[in-house]
Amino acid sequence: MPPIDDPFVAVALGANQPSAAGSPRETLVAVRPLLEDLLRVWSDQELVCRWSSLHDTVPVGGPPDQPAYCNAVLLVAGLKALPSEAAALQLLDALQGLEQQFGRDRSREQRWGPRSLDLDLLFWGELRLEHPRLLLPHPRLHLRTFVLAPLLETMQGFGSTVIT
Ligand code: ATP
Ligand code: CA
Ligand code: CA
Repeated sequence: MPPIDDPFVAVALGANQPSAAGSPRETLVAVRPLLEDLLRVWSDQELVCRWSSLHDTVPVGGPPDQPAYCNAVLLVAGLKALPSEAAALQLLDALQGLEQQFGRDRSREQRWGPRSLDLDLLFWGELRLEHPRLLLPHPRLHLRTFVLAPLLETMQGFGSTVIT
């Protein structure tokens, strides 16, 4: 089990449009091994990947009447790279590449509109960034139960002991 101070990376996944992999739920299942492979590039040891369950959620914001979302969170420990702006931007590029691979086309969508795959970086250890392309921690993380609920699942029992 990684130590408490291991700089975890957390990624939020969301989808509410079909992709070549199928339904939003099938997309999130199909993306799992690809996301793990992508993160393994930053690791020379065994990655510890914790996946939340898949949550069906009601859309928050964006156009009215868009389809329900499927959401999940991945929590990763054991990355070799230390949190840094350069590495975090590379990670964002890789996540956006994966979004495109699953049919995401940013040029044709409205804010918070339907999408085949959304991959957001929630945090990387204690790294704080206000880069034009990347805000860390994710500025709306604390406002979204569709992120907090799966995040809590991945963090439970991980690295800290709750004494009651
Ligand atoms: P929200 O950020 O509210 O979840 P969204 O996911 O719908 O909205 P997108 O259209 O997917 O937003 O992305 C817009 C831009 O947000 C991206 O091109 C990216 O540069 C930027 N961005 C800033 N911070 C982050 C982050 N922590 N994770 C992912 N993208 C980010
Ligand atoms: Ca998002
Ligand atoms: Ca996004």
